[in-house]
Amino acid sequence: MNAIDNEKTKYAEDYTSDESEVLQALRKECYEHYADSSMLSGFFQGRVLSMFSKMIQPKVVLEIGTYLGYSALCFAEGLADGGKVITLDINEETNKVARSFVERSKYADKIEFHLGEAVDVIPTLPETLDLVFIDADKTNYSNYYDLVFDKLRPGGFILADNVLWSGKVLLDEKDESTQALHDFNKMVKADDHVSNVLLPIRDGLMVVRKEG
Ligand code: SAH
Ligand code: CA
Repeated sequence: MNAIDNEKTKYAEDYTSDESEVLQALRKECYEHYADSSMLSGFFQGRVLSMFSKMIQPKVVLEIGTYLGYSALCFAEGLADGGKVITLDINEETNKVARSFVERSKYADKIEFHLGEAVDVIPTLPETLDLVFIDADKTNYSNYYDLVFDKLRPGGFILADNVLWSGKVLLDEKDESTQALHDFNKMVKADDHVSNVLLPIRDGLMVVRKEG
């Protein structure tokens, strides 16, 4: 990014609401101790996810890819009364840390953890979903979309993260994850059952609404 872009990003962050103390502590823990800390949504995107949740006021959110629980806590901020976030991940170690931070927050009884392969867990969830966040292994995005689609209520939303993949979707030579993300973006755009907008914030956030 050039200097002006950096300044604009900083300006946008400066004039965005602060995150909670728990989220701040979680980010600090992540940046200090995790080599893969770039997977965490981060401050600005976290505020965007929180705001989407507050706009939608979902009863049930499904998150595919918990990591340290940062985004799950952001979605919890906008839940309707009695609502919950169901979050799933395959990694036991990061899951423990996520649980400990959720325990420290005021959303401990609103976030439900599932540990396992996403393709195995999703079909076991009986819920009608209002909002889905796809943020796990990139090669499975289209599978996750198909698996959640019938559970999503008409008027419900799917958000999919990292769909620009650091701009690699633009390259002629695409590795497996890049190709999968590009195929996902094409599939969403071609799907008559939805409307969508690809927001070029951070690493690209696909916003999809199930119509009808
Ligand atoms: N949503 C988090 C970041 C998620 S990082 C945030 O915004 O802060 C991606 C996560 O997907 C990792 O924790 C990884 O363990 C998980 N993951 C990868 N492949 C998976 C699979 N097949 N099933 C379930 N989880 C998976
Ligand atoms: Ca992500």
